[in-house]
Amino acid sequence: MDDVEKIKQKIDIVDLISEHLTLKKTGRNFKANCPFHSEKTPSFVVSPERQIWHCFGCQKGGDIFTFLMEYEKTDFPESLKYLADKAGIKLSGPVFQTEKEKQKETIYSLNHLASTYYNYILLNHNAGKDALAYLFEKRKLNLDIIKKFNLGYAPNRNNSLTSYLMRKKGYKPEDLTNAGLATIRNGRVIDFFRHRIIFPISDSRGNVIAFSGRALDINSALEGPKYINTRETIVYKKSDSLFGLNLAKDEIKKENRVIVVEGEFDVISPYKEGIKNIVAIKGTALTESQVRILKRYAEKITFCFDTDRAGEEAQRRSIQMVEKENVLASVIVPPEGKDPDELVNEDPVLFKKAVKKDISIYDFIIDSAVGNFETKTVEGKRKILDKTLPVLSLIENAVIKEHYFKKLGRLLDTSVESLNKEADKIKNQKNVKEDILPKKKLTREEMIEPYLISLILQYKQVNKAYLICEETLQGTDFCLTAYNRIYSFLGDYVSQQENFFMGDFVKTLPSELLEAFDKCYLAPLAFLEDEKQYLSEIQKTAKEVKTNSLKSKLKNVSEKIKEKEKNGQEKEAEEARQEFLELTKLLKQNSVILIK
Ligand SMILES: [Zn+2]
Repeated sequence: MDDVEKIKQKIDIVDLISEHLTLKKTGRNFKANCPFHSEKTPSFVVSPERQIWHCFGCQKGGDIFTFLMEYEKTDFPESLKYLADKAGIKLSGPVFQTEKEKQKETIYSLNHLASTYYNYILLNHNAGKDALAYLFEKRKLNLDIIKKFNLGYAPNRNNSLTSYLMRKKGYKPEDLTNAGLATIRNGRVIDFFRHRIIFPISDSRGNVIAFSGRALDINSALEGPKYINTRETIVYKKSDSLFGLNLAKDEIKKENRVIVVEGEFDVISPYKEGIKNIVAIKGTALTESQVRILKRYAEKITFCFDTDRAGEEAQRRSIQMVEKENVLASVIVPPEGKDPDELVNEDPVLFKKAVKKDISIYDFIIDSAVGNFETKTVEGKRKILDKTLPVLSLIENAVIKEHYFKKLGRLLDTSVESLNKEADKIKNQKNVKEDILPKKKLTREEMIEPYLISLILQYKQVNKAYLICEETLQGTDFCLTAYNRIYSFLGDYVSQQENFFMGDFVKTLPSELLEAFDKCYLAPLAFLEDEKQYLSEIQKTAKEVKTNSLKSKLKNVSEKIKEKEKNGQEKEAEEARQEFLELTKLLKQNSVILIK
């Protein structure tokens, strides 16, 4: 047995997934809201018997390894190492790495070396003196917090880091450019970060994946933008990363809440004051994948953005994203229009109070819109509605919705009724859009066959379910090959075995059918009240499958008749006509039974 099999035997998939999601037992399987796409009714199914999972919403699925890879965004070797450890199994050989995985490892090591180097320069080298003074005096940081976040300084030279990594550590120029630490200009390798304060950005497991650099002299024209980031690499995707998450995640879990801010110092300063459940987005608005990552650690997201226009707009867009993802959200409004970092340094107590007095996002949306536009003019009213209604119309609780519509109505001197009308318009626009968007939707014919197989496989006595189905089908083929084959393997098994054992049956299936089989086996079925209802559902479905199959055969045969007649093959044409009559008769019989 290989390591993978050994690990699979030791770790139960239900146990593993339960560590991350709340699973509910339904029939043979377990269900949960899918962590990989947003949904309100669960379509994520886990099977203890098959030791697999599948999501019927986003079509992702697999075993314990693929779950971990998706969930933690890791690769196979990392999941293997982690699960082997968990199972207490010693891996028998070195973990196989693909070229891409090796490249990732190289970037992690390089970034680790770079962050240590920058930190050393900041704390111990003459070149870092000004930067250190800036952090101590202007930013009021102390040595502990600088070490905690492993801050650094990139010297004002073209090849400071590059010569360290290449000459002293033996890395090649392309290693450095792949990591985004250097660029090549006129054939020379040049440090990407120069004369900047360096913030390492880590993933949730603590690997350094990128850096952010803040210009030390922001008034000097030579400096370029105030902040620059490592470009995207194979380990760094800006929309997936959050500054400070590696240090904050335990505290976020403990508090069941995460505070989201805009920049690095907005994380570091509160952290210094003991507010540690805090991360920065480093972009203009929270992205969908950032929300999904945060959802793993906490049920509530609290925004605390800069109070300028850009900050407010980013906050509004982030709120819409969070609403879509079904997460509790609130807003901290720092008093006196200050940025979080500023306020913490001036008055930490006041900031802590503001954190405790977070307001609902709906109050925030209304207040900020009313603060920015005229409530008395038609134009102003229109702008306020544009900013508020798209969010307010999403509120599902009717009482809460009315509460905010009343508030908005008072401010704009209009009725709740009119607001409701406008909100409906927005909703309808959205629905139309969703309908127009090309979506690969299966037809009823395509869905009915896997549904029938699901009904049979999920019945407590599979043999019995098969026989009842067969009474109706009587040898009729399914239209879709995969289901036809599964059904015929099922027939072989049932004719040979008195009792049905899922594990045994699966072994009789060829591997190419397993995916289709698992989907049927895991498909979330509607709740059927009792035995009688369940079996009659099987009969009804089987009849529909039979009708479809006969119709499709009729179509083929009538084409055959035309073709044979055209070619003057009278004997063959006559045979086909006979076949056509037979099929018509069968179809009639089937529909008669259906009516009865
Ligand atoms: Zn999904």
